[in-house]
Amino acid sequence: MIDRLRKDVLNLGEIGRQVTGGISRPSLSEYDVEARKYVLKTFREAGLRVFTDAAGNMIGVRSGEVESPIVTTGSHIDSVWNGGMFDGVLGVMGGLEAIRMFNDDGVRTKLPIALIVFTDEEGAFSSLTGSSYFAGVLERQALYDLKNKYDGRRFGEGVTRIPREGYMERFTRPIRAHVELHIEQGPVLEANRVDIGVVTGIVGIRWLNISFKGRQSHAGATPMNMRRDPAIPLARTTLKIREIALKHGDMVGTTGHITLFPNVANVIPGEASLVADIRSLEAADLEDAVGRVVRSAKIYAKRENVDLEYSIPQKTEPVNCSPLVIHTISKVVEELGYSYMQLPSRAGHDTQNMAKLTGEVGMVFVPSRGGVSHAPEEWTEWEQAHRGVEVLRKTLIRLANQ
Ligand SMILES: [Zn+2]
Repeated sequence: MIDRLRKDVLNLGEIGRQVTGGISRPSLSEYDVEARKYVLKTFREAGLRVFTDAAGNMIGVRSGEVESPIVTTGSHIDSVWNGGMFDGVLGVMGGLEAIRMFNDDGVRTKLPIALIVFTDEEGAFSSLTGSSYFAGVLERQALYDLKNKYDGRRFGEGVTRIPREGYMERFTRPIRAHVELHIEQGPVLEANRVDIGVVTGIVGIRWLNISFKGRQSHAGATPMNMRRDPAIPLARTTLKIREIALKHGDMVGTTGHITLFPNVANVIPGEASLVADIRSLEAADLEDAVGRVVRSAKIYAKRENVDLEYSIPQKTEPVNCSPLVIHTISKVVEELGYSYMQLPSRAGHDTQNMAKLTGEVGMVFVPSRGGVSHAPEEWTEWEQAHRGVEVLRKTLIRLANQ
């Protein structure tokens, strides 16, 4: 019911709220502990059997006619600093609302359904931390050694502060399928005036560091033709990144970080560096784009007689949502009479780690007002949020009865 969902989202939205109206609730913080307690209570009230693993992922299981495999859903309740009320929370409280509706209707499913709250999706410690552990790509020692970027404390210390109901080192039941409900966090659904986004995949990401080294010298005394100015190839490379992204269908490319050294108005910089963020659903396109950017940057560097170094500090591969889950979600949306479109997710989500445990993954998006997210203004109309829950509910039933 829409009222129950609204109440839960609003209640969680009070935990960690700042004077700005934004929410600062990084994982394993005091506010996260409070939010976990709230969620645990609602899980118990809905009759879920709760497990907590060594990463603090909370797993609420609703029994099916058989023990396994299970169908999973879920998201996260941590936030970025000064973030919004819906990011992650909608997938958790919306998943819970779907389960409460099963309870109301006396729905029984063949496979059990588990609702998961993943720890640290937003990266207070790492990136998609809890789901990386859940999927077995992060080991316990490496996890516990991670440092919190806000207070420097280790994960292993922070995790002792959270409630650990039904503790088990790892939750290992085989997973049949995984579906996550999430706000879009972008403007596409709203601009197209559709209710639901059926996600086709989650983009892969390349971060490309390029550093140009020239000769630091006087901005007045050095004639134009006697300079080795690294800011020039940097500027050209930035434009090239946009040009390359525009040439590939669904690619986006951004230069979000630039440094000049020493960054002083009357000094020709000695060093200029940038970090490019390039995203696409196609792994081959990502490789191609990185290669093109580097080749162009080398040409621009040579023209100005400066040196170039580059590295790729972050590389995640694209994940395709499964045809079965995409089809199931689309059918459900049609039956409910909602409008929808297919689109990729250009932000990272826990679902990309779940794809390591099951080939059958998918995501349901609902519109974000103005496309705004990770900000206090983040908003989704309650009717739209509830449509997302309806789609999730019916999709889960189908997947759990196969
Ligand atoms: Zn999120």
